Amino acid sequence: MAARVPARAEARYWQATLARDAKADGAFFFGVKSTQIYCRPSCPARRPLRKNTLFFSTTSDAEREGFRPCRRCKPDEIPAAVRIVQRAAQVLESDLDEQINVGLLARKMGVTSSALRRAFRQQAGLTPKELAAALRLKKFKKLLREGNSITDALYATGYGSASRVYERSDAHLGMTPATYQKGGKGMRIRFTTAKSSLGEVLVAATERGVSAVYLGDTAPKLVSELREEYPRAEIAAEKGAFSNWVEEIVARVEGNAPRRELPLDLQATAFQRRVWQELQRIPRGATRTYSQIARAVGKPRAIRAVARACATNPVSIVVPCHRVVRADGNLAGYRWGLSRKEKLLERERS
Ligand SMILES: [Zn+2]
Repeated sequence: MAARVPARAEARYWQATLARDAKADGAFFFGVKSTQIYCRPSCPARRPLRKNTLFFSTTSDAEREGFRPCRRCKPDEIPAAVRIVQRAAQVLESDLDEQINVGLLARKMGVTSSALRRAFRQQAGLTPKELAAALRLKKFKKLLREGNSITDALYATGYGSASRVYERSDAHLGMTPATYQKGGKGMRIRFTTAKSSLGEVLVAATERGVSAVYLGDTAPKLVSELREEYPRAEIAAEKGAFSNWVEEIVARVEGNAPRRELPLDLQATAFQRRVWQELQRIPRGATRTYSQIARAVGKPRAIRAVARACATNPVSIVVPCHRVVRADGNLAGYRWGLSRKEKLLERERS
């Protein structure tokens, strides 16, 4: 049996296919048995019958089963909207200190403002302004890690004042800039990697508890992500370290119920901590929406901040951020890949 999508996802994928939902582009592809053609969800072509439709997670899954890419929606090519967003990111990144003006940005790129806004809405779920803010913050973080002073970093990234970055730092940095600047200085982090059916699992810990759980295709890539997150920490591989914890985490990846408590050592703001605690209350097999979590932590309007707290959760699986989905049932993002999120949810439900 070839790689298909989880059975439970199919109903949702079919709805997205019927709705030609561009937000689902990239999350899956559908193949039409009668024509052996596969499409992205937003394809304008006529919808096939349900019984003639198969779903695939990747284009190579579809091609392995003998399906050819549709000539209209070109599922094997990067969609125009993605290209627009990528190019916009490059332009913005080269000019971070400038106040962003969407009309000007569009002109620089040779597209219309409405095409630019549409591409952003479809592909990024944020506005060009928000992307600019995110890029500025990313550069700010990088400058701090490289040892620049906070004042220099603020100046170089076009933040008008310190208060503006502190406003944002809660949700984005997880620590105040001063802590972040230390890049984990003085921290001793040990890590180990293990195999799971969802790929490599990296578990990192301090003396106090688990500080990071990453999922990915290769161990070296996960290790470099860890080093990037804590450039000044003392990080060392330790084979067989805290094997009980690793075993427990891998078992949870495989969909098993928790068997033991895991001590955590997380650097977080008060808000992140509340969100992460709330995530740990979501029962296995269930999901919550971002707005439900926002209500539960007593900040019903802080939906975006909740989404960011989920995205910055350093200990996947243990703090089950994969159990948070969008109100329309869409999976939304997952730092470790949407198909991993899908599979985790699938396993926990069964
Ligand atoms: Zn198509």
